Amino acid sequence: MILTGLGYDSHRLSAGRRLILGGVEIPHEQGLDGHSDADVLTHAIIDALLGGAGMGDIGELFPDSDERYRDADSLVLLATVLTNLIAAGFTVLNVDTTVIMERPKLGAHRGEIRARLARALGLDAARVNVKATTGEGIGFVGRGEGVAALAIATLQAAD
Ligand code: MG
Repeated sequence: MILTGLGYDSHRLSAGRRLILGGVEIPHEQGLDGHSDADVLTHAIIDALLGGAGMGDIGELFPDSDERYRDADSLVLLATVLTNLIAAGFTVLNVDTTVIMERPKLGAHRGEIRARLARALGLDAARVNVKATTGEGIGFVGRGEGVAALAIATLQAAD
């Protein structure tokens, strides 16, 4: 059976934080604030995977009240989720994502992000898509206050 899952996340941009998207650090004067490394793109992917598998959400699995996840590398969290999915008999077929961010432009980093995520997911880079758009100056993204990400994952369930 084929199942799909949806993920969404947003994080605030703050000075003195690193900007990490899909496990790749992007040079910028601001980064994303959060309990973990605040990798908004990886968090959206985790929720998409959990959604497709019917396994809840990232907040249930990795509560931000838990000191173990302070400044956590989100790719490590993704690896944990993937291990759980595989143990439950799921295979990830593809992941598609959109990052919604005013600045900096993602284009120059897209290939590296894609490769990093594909490696983390055990997929060919062709099965992990990363799209980018801006907030067109509107809302919290447009004002440069934060970054949002959307993801959809397709899973094959064991019969
Ligand atoms: Mg998050």
